[in-house]
Amino acid sequence: MPAAVAAASWLWFLARGRARGSVKRIALRLTLLALAAAMVAVAAQRGLLSRTSVGFRVALLLAVVTVTVGYLYLTRFCDACGRMVRNLKVPTCPRCGAYLPRHGMTARLRRPGDERLWTPRDRPRPSRSRHPEGPSA
Ligand SMILES: [Zn+2]
Repeated sequence: MPAAVAAASWLWFLARGRARGSVKRIALRLTLLALAAAMVAVAAQRGLLSRTSVGFRVALLLAVVTVTVGYLYLTRFCDACGRMVRNLKVPTCPRCGAYLPRHGMTARLRRPGDERLWTPRDRPRPSRSRHPEGPSA
């Protein structure tokens, strides 16, 4: 069972280990990428990809991508102590109290007063649109 032990300690490190949040974010991405690749490889080995319709393959691929992206979005790491937080409603780290990123796909921190800048209708514009001539329709 050494593989299971290694996997368990790796997951423990991701959840609790002390490392920079950015490092662990990359580690999580690589882990999920490897898991997704393993799932696709197993599916291919069992003939799920070669013997089935294109629609089924696309659906399978979409499911894998959706789960992976959803997991990346929901899982945040504290920049200060590396604690994994999987509750998007928590604004600060439960271990050290530092502000957490807005979501798992960004390194930008959620700070008080930022909420008004980030509502679904009022997205921050890309910096390119700050040209004096303004957006050309
Ligand atoms: Zn922390």
